Amino acid sequence: MEPHAPSYYAATANPWPSRPALAGSLNVDVVVIGGGFTGLSAALHAAEAGFSVVLLEAHRIGWGASGRNGGQMIAGMRWAAPDLVAEFGRDRAARLIGLANTAGYMVRKRIERHGIACDLRSGHFQAAARPGHLDAMRRELDLLQDLLAYEGAEIVAPGDVGRVVASPIYHGGLLDTNGGHLHPLNYALGLAQAAEAAGVRICEGSAATAIDHTGPVRVTTAQGLVTASHAVLACDAFMGDLVPDLAAMTMPVANYNVATAPLGDAAARSLIPSGAAVADSKFVLNYYRLSADNRLIFGGGEKYSPRPPADVAGFVRPYLEQVFPQLQGVAIDHAWGGLVGVTLNRLPQFGRIGNSFYAHGWSGHGVLMTTLAGDLIAQAMRGHAERFDLFASLPRRAFPGGRWLRHPLYVAGMLYYALKDRL
Ligand SMILES: Cc1cc2nc3c(=O)[nH]c(=O)nc-3n(C[C@H](O)[C@H](O)[C@H](O)COP(=O)(O)OP(=O)(O)OC[C@H]3O[C@@H](n4cnc5c(N)ncnc54)[C@H](O)[C@@H]3O)c2cc1C
Repeated sequence: MEPHAPSYYAATANPWPSRPALAGSLNVDVVVIGGGFTGLSAALHAAEAGFSVVLLEAHRIGWGASGRNGGQMIAGMRWAAPDLVAEFGRDRAARLIGLANTAGYMVRKRIERHGIACDLRSGHFQAAARPGHLDAMRRELDLLQDLLAYEGAEIVAPGDVGRVVASPIYHGGLLDTNGGHLHPLNYALGLAQAAEAAGVRICEGSAATAIDHTGPVRVTTAQGLVTASHAVLACDAFMGDLVPDLAAMTMPVANYNVATAPLGDAAARSLIPSGAAVADSKFVLNYYRLSADNRLIFGGGEKYSPRPPADVAGFVRPYLEQVFPQLQGVAIDHAWGGLVGVTLNRLPQFGRIGNSFYAHGWSGHGVLMTTLAGDLIAQAMRGHAERFDLFASLPRRAFPGGRWLRHPLYVAGMLYYALKDRL
């Protein structure tokens, strides 16, 4: 079992003594594999629905992307509304976006109901990296207002960006109070505590090594065996060899974050006066926000080789200093990386194999959607699958190139788009 990766989040995590590994045989209604937001939410919702539930996590709760991400709560889906309408028509697009938009409300309600101390703040700003991107944001907001009477979002004109974020490089943007940010590891640990209170048994250091989906599901770990009516596969970028067909549908892409030294109240407020989380509109985007103790938490750049940069802080720093020239040479206290589960078309994948449910491939847009996914999985297990099936019906394709060539082909594609960012 690996500990949490050293990060700002691990250094400021709420207490979470490790839970014992599974030993022996268990018979339950539901076995959840993966202790990130998806698995924790599925376990919590299933237990609240009256199922007996065991959750198996290979390492620690929140060890994966859920405990390392940018903490940005981005409303809606990864695809822009006009693209969803063009692909799926107005009605289906409106249902998809409407359902996705309930995720923000659901996360806030969970935080409130369980008293989760995770530094929740409102406001998300999508910053236009080019003038044309602002036009696209205007079309997006117009369509959202038309489709769903969307409220709480506004276009920020280029001359007004300074009231949101003190960076000289943007051409306006879209400020959305339905988004926000939080301390992701503490949100995961809070969900885990709520799940335990609802009756879920959590086993850490319990990697599922094999699964049989037929009939009652059977999941094997190094020292145990769980037999269950249903399984939930919530492994995202870490599916590995457990279900190779599913692993082939997502690509693990490494992404890196840093946290500066505390900047002080006044300096932090002058950097991001709105207090919003900010993400720019580039293909390989920069995203950042202030922590509760006034650090800048900044993510930028992607690396397609499996090996992390020798100096993660040095890798991210140029992106940070390009956005905030006034932070040239700022002290960086923490630097870490994580794996994002990316799908070919950047839409999440929901589905079933026998009696197992899965939801993954959040493509960098999982802080909110994962909590919703857990609810939809629990509903589907109770026989109410309409909303689960709305997402399960989204189109999907495996990455071209098979097991050996899919990574180099993907890298070639990504480098092309990263180059377009720079032109
Ligand atoms: C650096 C980074 C920044 C990001 N920033 C943002 C952001 O700002 N906003 C946003 O919306 N999204 C962001 N994301 C994406 C977001 O974090 C993910 O979409 C989300 O956390 C996925 O949650 P999950 O529960 O599906 O997967 P994970 O949190 O990755 O959890 C999967 C878990 O399954 C466990 N597991 C895997 N295999 C097994 C097995 N065989 N047996 C038992 N356990 C197993 C793993 O140990 C892991 O803990 C970011 C991701 C990264 C890496």
